[in-house]
Amino acid sequence: MEVTIIRSPRRHRTISARMVNDCLVVRAPQHVSQERLDTVVEGFKIKFQKRRLKEALDRKQSLREIVEKLNEKYFANALKINSIEYVIDQNSKYGCCNYTQRSIRISHKVGLMPSWVRDYVLIHEMAHLLEPNHSKSFWSIVSRYKLAERARGYLLAMGFLAEDEQENVNSECMG
Ligand SMILES: [Zn+2]
Repeated sequence: MEVTIIRSPRRHRTISARMVNDCLVVRAPQHVSQERLDTVVEGFKIKFQKRRLKEALDRKQSLREIVEKLNEKYFANALKINSIEYVIDQNSKYGCCNYTQRSIRISHKVGLMPSWVRDYVLIHEMAHLLEPNHSKSFWSIVSRYKLAERARGYLLAMGFLAEDEQENVNSECMG
């Protein structure tokens, strides 16, 4: 990412940044130390990269669209989902389902995986809207998806937590 730094004597404290044609333009006070500037610019870079990645994933195919298809095919359109989106911050979790808010968040890494694995993760999180725990009935819902076992193996091989049966209802993030 290209970075342009503009130091301005009129600025006193704040450092700001915005993207201008693929270039990160940073405005900073004249006398800010290089060290502080480096740290802040690094933070801006990460933030803008994440935003870009998320936009790219959504452009590929909207998550909402995919989920609506899965809802129809595997849940007879019975699920009500308030929000569904990619998140960039998760590390070892591939998805989160918030049962009470009826929202699902999926790691951006899943968006980069083959679509049959992504669909498994979505179905897994969607099934949590019916069964918060990894109970027997939870897995029987998930198994409506024929590639479920294969996808779990894939995720495990990728270092994601597939063996997550010990999570409890109240944890906000479920694998
Ligand atoms: Zn789970």
